[in-house]
Amino acid sequence: MIWFQALRWPGIALAIAAALNWLVSAQAAAWWLAAVLAGYALWQTLRLARLHHWAALPRQRELPMGAGAWDVLFERIGRYVNLENETRSELSAELAQLHAAVDQLPDGLTLIDRLDHVEWCNNAAAELHGIFASGRPVHHFIRQPEFVDYLDNSGYRSAPVIALPSRPGRFFELRLHPVDDGGKLLITRDVTDQARLDAMRRDFVANVSHEIRTPVTVIGGFAETLLSIEVDEDSRREYLSTILKQSQTMQRLVDDLLTLSTLENSGGPDTEEQIDIRAMVEAIASEAHALSQGGHTIEIRIDDKPTVLASAIELESAIRNLMTNAVRYTPVGGRIVVQWRDRDGRGELQVRDTGIGIAAEHLPRLTERFYRVDRSRSRGSGGTGLGLAIVKHIMNRHGGDLAIESHVGEGSAFTLRFPGRRLIGATPSGADGDEAPVPAHPDADVGDSPGSIRT
Ligand code: ADP
Repeated sequence: MIWFQALRWPGIALAIAAALNWLVSAQAAAWWLAAVLAGYALWQTLRLARLHHWAALPRQRELPMGAGAWDVLFERIGRYVNLENETRSELSAELAQLHAAVDQLPDGLTLIDRLDHVEWCNNAAAELHGIFASGRPVHHFIRQPEFVDYLDNSGYRSAPVIALPSRPGRFFELRLHPVDDGGKLLITRDVTDQARLDAMRRDFVANVSHEIRTPVTVIGGFAETLLSIEVDEDSRREYLSTILKQSQTMQRLVDDLLTLSTLENSGGPDTEEQIDIRAMVEAIASEAHALSQGGHTIEIRIDDKPTVLASAIELESAIRNLMTNAVRYTPVGGRIVVQWRDRDGRGELQVRDTGIGIAAEHLPRLTERFYRVDRSRSRGSGGTGLGLAIVKHIMNRHGGDLAIESHVGEGSAFTLRFPGRRLIGATPSGADGDEAPVPAHPDADVGDSPGSIRT
């Protein structure tokens, strides 16, 4: 095709030249041929110049008009150009999609070239590190010595975890990954929750070891003494009762730890039954009387017969913890009142005492494991520091909560608050929404105040 197109006009010109030679003269034929060839060369040069001009301009411009062989050539080039344009716009659309997706990532991504200059970053990285332009050294934006050191000698191991000024209170792991062209990809990930969990786990192990060390040391010391020296009967009994007391402390600790782990490992109570609150409180009150040894007045103010749908074992444990604490933290002669009331469709069981009370700054941490206001007092009265953590867990599992109100020197009120749907025979009133905590003085209404908290 291209051969035909290219040779058609020269062929016709030659045929005309031959005809002129035969009909007119050889000179006329020569003039004709010279003129036609000059015109043809000029025309071809013009087409070539147009193609050259087109190639030098942006690709989107339309192809120049061709004729003859040029037409075929331009059409072919045009097809290639269109194909290339289509591929390019497809690629740009895909790239835009990829950018949009990468910008949605919560992790920061920063591409760094072989000279440690920022090449590109996603939105998260721009915000986290304040990267406002590419082409600058990455350590202009991330100046923390741990990172700079890691960047210089990383070997891509042990990524540093650092605090960033753009997100106070949170911690980020900055990990580098090698990329093909000798550059690096920096991934910035928020590891605050993981770091907190790790810290909690470490604290927990440290706390448990600390709690166990004292009884173990005491038991070991007294056993050694009993084995190595002769002691009289009175001392022997005294040593053995100390050993027994310490082993009971350990037993309580292990029991409480097991209870906590059971509570944490299951979402809600396994079995639920209708619980007669008054009967349960009365049974626990007799244990509290035994603990108090007549040192406290314990009053139960439960007039109706409130019934709650709950796990009996868990609820009993929660009430026992509160009543035991009330006895332990109330000086002899004090008063403990256990009271039930329906409040806005909820059920509330309150254990109130006239004991030593708790300063407001301790209240938010009171239900943390092993948190104690006065360590020696808690240990001295057989406390494990886990009681209120257990109570809080139990109430949360039942869809309720624990409200605490306390004032130093005046006393404390611990209230188990049950959602309406757990009350049998009561008319539930709407949602189990937020309410003000229960005041220490049951007849008074208190809002959130420095002396109260809900957990
Ligand atoms: P513990 O075994 O130490 O009593 P808890 O978790 O039961 O552990 O209680 C945590 C801390 O709360 C106690 O160490 C104590 O300081 C304080 N506390 C608990 N109940 C009372 C209360 N009725 N009066 C005063 N302080 C209390």
